[in-house]
Amino acid sequence: MQKKVYIESYGCQMNVNDSEVVAGILAKDGYTPVQSAEEADLVLLNTCSIREKAEYTVLQRINEMNNLKARNKDLKVGVLGCMAERMREDLLEKKKVVDLVVGPDAYRTLPELLEKVGTGQKAVNVLLSREETYGEIVPVRLDTNGVTAFVTIMRGCDNMCAFCVVPFTRGRERSRDPESIVAECRDLWARGYKEVTLLGQNVDSYTWREENGLRAAGHGPRADGALPAARGPQPEASATVDFADLLEMVALAVPGMRIRYSTSHPKDMTDKVLAVMARYDNICKYIHLPVQSGSSDVLKRMNRGYTREWYLDRIAAIRRHMPDCAISTDIIAGFCGETEEDHQQTLSMMGMVGYDMAFMFMYSERPKTLAARKYADDVPTEEKSRRLQEIIALQKELSAQRMAGYVGQVHEVLIEGVSKRSAEHLYGRNTQNAVVIVPRMHAATELMPGTFIRARITSSTSGSLQGDVLDMINEPLVVA
Ligand code: SAM
Ligand code: SF4
Repeated sequence: MQKKVYIESYGCQMNVNDSEVVAGILAKDGYTPVQSAEEADLVLLNTCSIREKAEYTVLQRINEMNNLKARNKDLKVGVLGCMAERMREDLLEKKKVVDLVVGPDAYRTLPELLEKVGTGQKAVNVLLSREETYGEIVPVRLDTNGVTAFVTIMRGCDNMCAFCVVPFTRGRERSRDPESIVAECRDLWARGYKEVTLLGQNVDSYTWREENGLRAAGHGPRADGALPAARGPQPEASATVDFADLLEMVALAVPGMRIRYSTSHPKDMTDKVLAVMARYDNICKYIHLPVQSGSSDVLKRMNRGYTREWYLDRIAAIRRHMPDCAISTDIIAGFCGETEEDHQQTLSMMGMVGYDMAFMFMYSERPKTLAARKYADDVPTEEKSRRLQEIIALQKELSAQRMAGYVGQVHEVLIEGVSKRSAEHLYGRNTQNAVVIVPRMHAATELMPGTFIRARITSSTSGSLQGDVLDMINEPLVVA
């Protein structure tokens, strides 16, 4: 009998993709994904520890599992991801409903762990690895629109930003074999996907070296049977593949596919990457470049490895290479020791860059981090909240300005699905990652997700654009 698994993901895009890797591993063990916890034999919560609030949400959800178990005595419940890593046995001991705890590098052991759980025992594996990249695992796409997909290119993080728990929960940084990345993108294209987002905590430090097992192209058949890309950097051209090389390899391997990536780190973002982005039409003109703070003093305490001036120089470099590139960011309000002047510098930085979009957070102290050990969490909650509200209000104005600037322009839009607000409309994104709403019908033809169209932008809000469809593009995108 088919076993049914329901996987619920919290937190970042990497967690969403990790859940798909887990579904891939479990598929081999006879599990089929289902859409609700009620139908499942196994519920897995893939968790996030980035802020205290994120953990609180999951702890509440774990409690709700008691009701489900009361109705289905055979149900098994597992906790995966960052909270599994951080809280380990604590979860098994304090939350009786939990049968299984598995950290981000131990998903391959799920079949054995589930066997143990099947005999009525509890199971845990939170070992971190220096090598695991799940390179050859074929993810099972969950909740997919069939148009856009995530591809993880590296795992872990070596940066030790003072506020961040990720290095403790996801371990050391390691890069995935470029050939397996290219093969996964080709496979997605063959299955009708039109956009991939390459994921890593700091994609700019992606590095694959010959000693990692790099196979020279042209020396025997490839594992996926595909031909090497016709031009651009081949693995044998250099002993090391960096992020710019990888981007180019993917751009050439799937020329009709849109390529995005996240996340860039300002200290590591090179002009070589920007030049590759500018060269290929199928690499989207959008960069997520978290600033965290506009004050060099705060950035120093955050251990971010750059100053305000360095960050602004990187913004200038982006504008030089791609004047039409959209830029988004992450901002933390009220980090340890942040003064009103530091806060004003964050606001002025936002104004100088003119971000298209931002994720904005109140600082939340995380156990074990450098900040928790070294600095007092001394900005009162009301003050953090006030600063955050000011940051949010300013960003809303900036987003509205950026979006208004697109009105009247013609943009290429990849249709992703039906608009949440109106069944008569579809939504898609332009290269700058802005949501564009268009009518569902075009000249008596119903537009389908996965179609590239040209749209004239007619109006805007701070969160989306509205447009009229001019035509459909059959040959999606042309490589420069
Ligand atoms: N690796 C990415 C980077 O370096 O920007 C982002 C990683 S993290 C998952 C996403 C964002 O969460 C961070 O950029 C930061 O703004 C925010 N964040 C991380 N730790 C936080 C904390 N302790 N309190 C508040 N926000 C935090
Ligand atoms: Fe966390 Fe910094 Fe690594 Fe991003 S780069 S995951 S913020 S430690």
